[in-house]
Amino acid sequence: MQKGAIRVQTENIFPIIKKFLYSDHEIFIRELVSNAVDATQKLKTLASVGEFKGETGEVAIEVTVDKENKKITISDRGIGMTAEEVDKYINQVAFSGAEEFVNKYKDRGTGANIIGHFGLGFYSSFMISDKVEIISQSWKEAPAVRWECDGSPAYELEETTREAGRGTDIVMHVNDDSLEFLEDGRIRSILEKFCRFLPIPINFHGEQINNPNPAWTKKPSELTTEDYQNFYKELYPYAEPPLFWIHLNVDYPFNLTGILYFPTIKKTYEMQKDKINLYSNQVYVTDEVKDIVPEFLMLLHGVIDSPDIPLNVSRSYLQGDPNVRKINAHITKKVADKLDEMFRNDRKAFEEKWEHTGLFVKYGMMTEDKFYEKANKFMVMEDVDGGTFYTLEELRTETQALQTNKEGKLVILYTTNPVQQDSYIWGAKSKGYKVIKLESLVDAAFINTIEQKWENVQFTRVDSDIADNLIDAGENKESVLTEDQQTKLQTLFSEELKAQPNIKVDLKGLAVDAQPVIVTRSEFMRRMKDMAAIGGQANSWYAQLPDEITMTVNANHPIYQDILKTDDPHRQNKVVRNLADLALLSQNLLTGADLTAFVHRSVELLKV
Ligand code: ADP
Repeated sequence: MQKGAIRVQTENIFPIIKKFLYSDHEIFIRELVSNAVDATQKLKTLASVGEFKGETGEVAIEVTVDKENKKITISDRGIGMTAEEVDKYINQVAFSGAEEFVNKYKDRGTGANIIGHFGLGFYSSFMISDKVEIISQSWKEAPAVRWECDGSPAYELEETTREAGRGTDIVMHVNDDSLEFLEDGRIRSILEKFCRFLPIPINFHGEQINNPNPAWTKKPSELTTEDYQNFYKELYPYAEPPLFWIHLNVDYPFNLTGILYFPTIKKTYEMQKDKINLYSNQVYVTDEVKDIVPEFLMLLHGVIDSPDIPLNVSRSYLQGDPNVRKINAHITKKVADKLDEMFRNDRKAFEEKWEHTGLFVKYGMMTEDKFYEKANKFMVMEDVDGGTFYTLEELRTETQALQTNKEGKLVILYTTNPVQQDSYIWGAKSKGYKVIKLESLVDAAFINTIEQKWENVQFTRVDSDIADNLIDAGENKESVLTEDQQTKLQTLFSEELKAQPNIKVDLKGLAVDAQPVIVTRSEFMRRMKDMAAIGGQANSWYAQLPDEITMTVNANHPIYQDILKTDDPHRQNKVVRNLADLALLSQNLLTGADLTAFVHRSVELLKV
């Protein structure tokens, strides 16, 4: 038997490793199973080039837990190690890796995130063990070897026999702080997390837990639509079927494979639940893919796999990494190209998915210039009546004759709520205008951003002014009322509304069949308030401002002739107040005590 001491400067590194990896102990499984996979793949390579001439046999990796004897064993049928190799790779190389790690991070608090990706390798087994044994039989003609170490720099190395023949067992004698890892359920869930798609079969107590050939590792030409859908189901068993997907497959100038799925987004609160998972050569790394995936695509689902993403470094380093930036740009381009292709090849299908994809497209246009350039051609807007979609250029062609204002700007009329804004939509349509729907979460912000980018385009919500003034503030038509009557009417309204200084009364001669009173809210103020609400600034000063409301009184409406004629001033006031309230009600602006008063007053007025 050979006894020796691992070359070491730090007196005893294991307590330090344990301390640093405190919250991430479970990664020992990832590290050891990855080593077993590597050893197995090396053997397969040797066999394929004819260097290894024996039988490879069944090469599954076996993970077993022996709760009674407090042991976890990971066995492989890979290349194994000779005594010299154990000495070299475990006593010297692997240890110096672990030591370097400790030297680098010992002054940095408990930075478990950084460390989880360091690839501590074999020595991570000491996080949970009092003692670790390696029993290995090399594929070469050499005696089997047993190595043992209790976490001090002293180790033992001796010849032995390995009944199973070629391969390696790593036996961990679990320490008293880590007994949780002796529960089958715990180990199974760790294996399912990290080892789910490793390329070599992995058995836990004889039962295979992984899919060694996940869809993303295959060529797109080998996969059917069903294969993609089934893989999605495998990843997210409870999710609705995906809308479509993009298979990433790059090998130059960086390595990247993966499948990104566009999910069906039904409810916004579900959006963060399922995330994109990052793998490195089929080893699960993390679901924190920030920086690698452009922000506007963070809601996508699926898998990306790249051995070129540095996993051993801190987050801030990742941001600046040239490969990470290239991968990010590549994903953006792929998504834009895919959407463009769908738009050109099957516009109908594209439009049917717009309800879900629109969210990504708009967010992408706001945040990524490169994406904006491409998306401008396929970003569509849906007509309020539903089913008709226009690109900006198409909408321009459709509407420029009627909807270009004096400054030469195209005025895009939109509604955020077709039900609530119905009477305004009706008014705009009766003038021959087109109204589009912009109802989704991102639309308010999108409108603000896109107005800066699209030249000579302005968005105006249908209820921001009376229909006559939506495109240009027009001249007042002649009113049928006399000057005196007009003054009287203005006074009647102003008196009724004097408690609400945010409401401005504006007498106009509109069409006889237009509403007697129309309430509108300035586009600018409304947007400021909407933005504040979305940004969670409900308490900021402009979110608190009362709504700026314009109450346009249509002096040409026949009802005013009657009102002005009546000699009952009491009734006159009530009717005026009710007309004002009706208009507020149609904008959802009448609530509380005002609403109650309105109901009582209406009943009274109905009395004959
Ligand atoms: P890394 O895997 O990053 O090289 P490790 O500390 O995990 O570092 O392992 C050190 C070396 O020990 C490996 O490179 C490999 O040569 C050898 N090794 C570890 N586990 C096994 C195994 N199960 N079978 C064969 N060789 C192994």
